Amino acid sequence: MEVRVRYAPSPTGLQHIGGVRTALFNYLFARSQGGKFILRLEDTDRSRSSEVFTRNLYNTFAWLGIHWDEGPDTGGPAAPYVQSERFSLYRKHAEELLAQDNAYYCFCAPERLDQIRAEREASHSPETGYDRHCRSIPREEAARRAASGEPCTIRLKIPLGERTVFRDQLLGDIEWKNDDVNPDPVLLKSDGFPTYHLANVVDDHLMGTSHVLRAQEWLPSTPLHVILYRAFGWEHPEYCHLPMVMGQDGKKLSKRHGATSVDEFRRQGYLKEALINYVALLGCSYEEGKDLYTLEELAERFSLDKLNKAPAIFDYKKLEWYNGLYIRMKTNEELAALALPYAVEQGLFGYVMREPSGEQRELFKSAMVLVKERALFLKDIPGKLRYIFTEPVVPAASEFIPKKSTLPAARELLTMGRELTTPITEAETTEAAEAAVKAFAEQKGLKLGDLLMPLRVAITGERVSPPLFGSIRLLGAARSLARIDRALVVLA
Ligand code: GLU
Ligand code: ZN
Repeated sequence: MEVRVRYAPSPTGLQHIGGVRTALFNYLFARSQGGKFILRLEDTDRSRSSEVFTRNLYNTFAWLGIHWDEGPDTGGPAAPYVQSERFSLYRKHAEELLAQDNAYYCFCAPERLDQIRAEREASHSPETGYDRHCRSIPREEAARRAASGEPCTIRLKIPLGERTVFRDQLLGDIEWKNDDVNPDPVLLKSDGFPTYHLANVVDDHLMGTSHVLRAQEWLPSTPLHVILYRAFGWEHPEYCHLPMVMGQDGKKLSKRHGATSVDEFRRQGYLKEALINYVALLGCSYEEGKDLYTLEELAERFSLDKLNKAPAIFDYKKLEWYNGLYIRMKTNEELAALALPYAVEQGLFGYVMREPSGEQRELFKSAMVLVKERALFLKDIPGKLRYIFTEPVVPAASEFIPKKSTLPAARELLTMGRELTTPITEAETTEAAEAAVKAFAEQKGLKLGDLLMPLRVAITGERVSPPLFGSIRLLGAARSLARIDRALVVLA
């Protein structure tokens, strides 16, 4: 059987981690099976769907590098892949169910349905949903009323007194009493729009979906879908409801826990490799002791039997750790290209949004060695390098003084540092420069940290900074000496 899976989002919000996880697992499953991955837009809720969210969907997956084989933009044999362009199909299929007596017209006005709800609430009745009021209207009479233009919906006629059993690849056999399934839900609304259930089932059938991999929150809809497939006389796809994604507190992952939309993660400076690697592990276990996977490696390894039943816990710290790791795996060139937009936005090259000159661009690239080892987010990189691009404000004299030391001592240390500066810039390597300065400190009986403190503050404007020797070498002797001289004036 050809594997055909789909990601079927409703464009009613920004793409979030849960959606990306569903899409990714479908993508990986298709790749691992040599199958097809399909994108279908479920935009039947016209009031909540928006072009903005559709664009966000495309942007997100283009950025992540996750591509579909068939979809609204790529086309394919089951086109169109947008539900709002398929309305006539849903009507046709709803009418087919009517003709087979598997569905019926409902003429209840919304007010009547509201009233039932209110009455039940008042009497604390446990019953929910439709009361099947119109199920007993004789078919000819109902057809006549509908033909005469009386407003009506089409509802599924759930076979009562039976059970619906289906197998979930992860959760095993699932059995529901039909009497407990959503009572005769609407398939086609009075305005001719399909509901999620009808459109979803018709499309999965017509698009040849072999497996439905979706979030566990959809599990309660599945018995209903299985009943619909059977009413049409179709085989239903294999089901696999993916483990839930929770926050650290065991509640469903939400904004309360932190960033959830991919846009937010992007703004903070996450790399797509880190997000994909981490999200791929949400509810799926690969190899013991291996943490790092490329998209290709995941595609080779993914299988449904590697899914976990237990909910996945979203650990922001772990994701951060991945991000740091992937940042360190970039070449300086790659990292500079990734961090550059953040630098421009933060005004590293003059005022905000100013593009760098050729020289600044080169300097930025060379500066990557200074931040790479410790950066967790792309967003944080420009701020750490401001002293390279702008002369730092000279801090107050007290800032230059090492612990338990004095102002005259700090002045003397900085004077020594000044002597060392040109040799540092002329050394063969940064390591060699460091070794020479260490030897100097030893010979003078000075603590290296004490010797470097005033120099560091003079060069970077801070007591804590990226590596000092690398900074001095990057700035060059002239700029470094000028900074030291300005500082000596403050210490005089
Ligand atoms: N449109 C549904 C969603 O937004 C699709 C659920 C499914 O995969 O069946 O998630
Ligand atoms: Zn009714």
